[in-house]
Amino acid sequence: MSKNSINSSSKAKRVLSIPRKLLSPIRSFLLSQLRRLELRRSSLERDDPFVSGRSDNFASPDTTAAEQFGHARSEAMRRELERKTIQIRKALSRIRIGVYGICESCGKMIDTDRLVVFPETTVCIDCERKAESKKR
Ligand SMILES: [Zn+2]
Repeated sequence: MSKNSINSSSKAKRVLSIPRKLLSPIRSFLLSQLRRLELRRSSLERDDPFVSGRSDNFASPDTTAAEQFGHARSEAMRRELERKTIQIRKALSRIRIGVYGICESCGKMIDTDRLVVFPETTVCIDCERKAESKKR
């Protein structure tokens, strides 16, 4: 009987869309993704001919086309990694403050099917579509 009263008093007042039981695996997944991204980023920096030991000689005339191509490619990949890293950090901080799964743009709940596929997302599908159409 006393157990029941504890359970009912633990009912949270704020709207928490995702149960804690699910949040913890999501959180560890995001953290492992973050580690992977950081590893990939540091290996990219090692491979980039412009970054490894050459950063103070950026417009060097002896830069080969292959080096330039390699740089452009790793630059694009680095930007993509950066974007993902920021997104995952944002999702993790939303877990921390207890608003994970709630769209940061309109405040509606994000579809759980969407969260399963993109656990790092912080906006609902409608808001993402709106943002995408603005970009174009
Ligand atoms: Zn939204």
